[in-house]
Amino acid sequence: MAKYVFVTGGVVSGLGKGITASSIALLLKSRGYKVFMQKFDPYINVDPGTMSPYQHGEVFVTADGTETDLDLGHYERFIDEELNYTSNITTGKVYSSVIEKERRGDYLGATVQIVPHITNEIKNKVYEAAKTSGADVVITEIGGTIGDLESQAFIESLRQIRGELGIDNTLFVHVTLVPYIYGSGELKTKPTQHSVAEMRGLGIQPDILVCRAPEMLSDSMREKLALYCSVPKENIITAKDEKNIYHIPINLYEQKMDEIILKQFGMKVNKINLGSWENLIKTVDNLNKEVEIALVGKYTGLHDAYLSVMEALSHAGYKHKVKVNIKWVDSERLENENLDVVFKNTKGIIVPGGFGERGIKGMIMAIKYAREKNIPFLGICLGMQLAVIEFARDVCNIKKADSVEFDNMCEEPIIDLMAEQKNIINMGGTLRLGNYDCQIKRGTLTYDDYKSEKIAERHRHRYEFNNKYKEVLEKNGMVFSGVNPESDLVEIIEIPKHKHFIACQFHPEFKSRPVRCHPLFDSFIRESSK
Ligand code: GLN
Repeated sequence: MAKYVFVTGGVVSGLGKGITASSIALLLKSRGYKVFMQKFDPYINVDPGTMSPYQHGEVFVTADGTETDLDLGHYERFIDEELNYTSNITTGKVYSSVIEKERRGDYLGATVQIVPHITNEIKNKVYEAAKTSGADVVITEIGGTIGDLESQAFIESLRQIRGELGIDNTLFVHVTLVPYIYGSGELKTKPTQHSVAEMRGLGIQPDILVCRAPEMLSDSMREKLALYCSVPKENIITAKDEKNIYHIPINLYEQKMDEIILKQFGMKVNKINLGSWENLIKTVDNLNKEVEIALVGKYTGLHDAYLSVMEALSHAGYKHKVKVNIKWVDSERLENENLDVVFKNTKGIIVPGGFGERGIKGMIMAIKYAREKNIPFLGICLGMQLAVIEFARDVCNIKKADSVEFDNMCEEPIIDLMAEQKNIINMGGTLRLGNYDCQIKRGTLTYDDYKSEKIAERHRHRYEFNNKYKEVLEKNGMVFSGVNPESDLVEIIEIPKHKHFIACQFHPEFKSRPVRCHPLFDSFIRESSK
């Protein structure tokens, strides 16, 4: 039977609950256990797919095509396991499925209520994750902060799970803030005391406290928290601020976080193997060169919108021992600026994914600049679509080349709506999502990168390259180095005459791992740091 770790948050949001949950999972995996991860998001949206990146940051996509919270990206990067539809549960998902059952008559005349119907549904999602993954330990993070109205049904479900399975099979980790007060120069435990009191009011006694603080908590502070919160002193762990999140698992390990968990579960504390992670930390701490990569997009005011892209760039940097400094270029502003000045120190240009017409002009200008000045370029999804439009307009003289997404009456629809998308009315969950195969042409840059003819990558888009234009673009020097074997949809393009110009319709960033960077980011950073 699986064991369950629940990670809640207190005092404020943004304390690194996701990183804590991922670190726990990594440590348990490094002790030889099979782990699986799950996130509960209390909002009413069925998934974050319809939310603006400004609201929610990036939408992370799993191999099975589930649109999820960006924390799942951290999970996959830390534990290097593929997650799926059981890994991200929202209030919207829970209620939709309960209402569907009610309409079908499944509840046999009962009055459908939060307890037990909604809570049963939530509990089933936890048990389903354990069953389908076959994991020894499932780690579930609960979004939001204890005390939020919208997360109460989730918390109540966890209380019931503890009742059903007992303390040997369930464990509560509460991540809280221990703020530093300038002036008096002290760390303060009171907010944590209040948060734990609130949690107890909901019927849950945490087993471990993870206290986010700028420095290690002293013994006396831990004693005080132990007394007020009824948590053993050794179970009070500090999550010290770190510049690089990949340090966190090691910090938690040094405070025996994983041992405490395994002991509560009565599981063997196997020898740990953290070798590759320790090497990673060494690399991260000793990057001796720097390279400036310009990221040109329209959500540059909120870096979370490009979280996995930032991570993937860093990972490739680790491989090539360079620190990647991202220059954030707001494509809307670019339209009026001097590109030579903006890109003065830039060694590579990346145009990532995006939706809608705003800022497109600036992105196309940046792509043209990269192409003409022979600056390494990587285009992702929208970035590929725009690279093709730019090439068609400027190199092939198809001046009216455009995407139907920006102008649905355009005369030269180089980027068109996919056939299967034409009759879709609902916006949520209807993009081309998740893994699709891609056949790679031998003798291309792309083949050099992947060293394989058959790959699968994760997608999230509605529009596609229009194959009617393939021939003329090829004649002018663009190579279609990857296509989907079933649908013939273009997956990857490149310009061999250029130093390094590759763009793809999928999102390679989702598959990059800190200890194993993605081939397309690998070559992009390699060429940019030459
Ligand atoms: N807006 C484009 C499409 O829907 C690109 C999407 C993306 O970049 N993720 O096809």
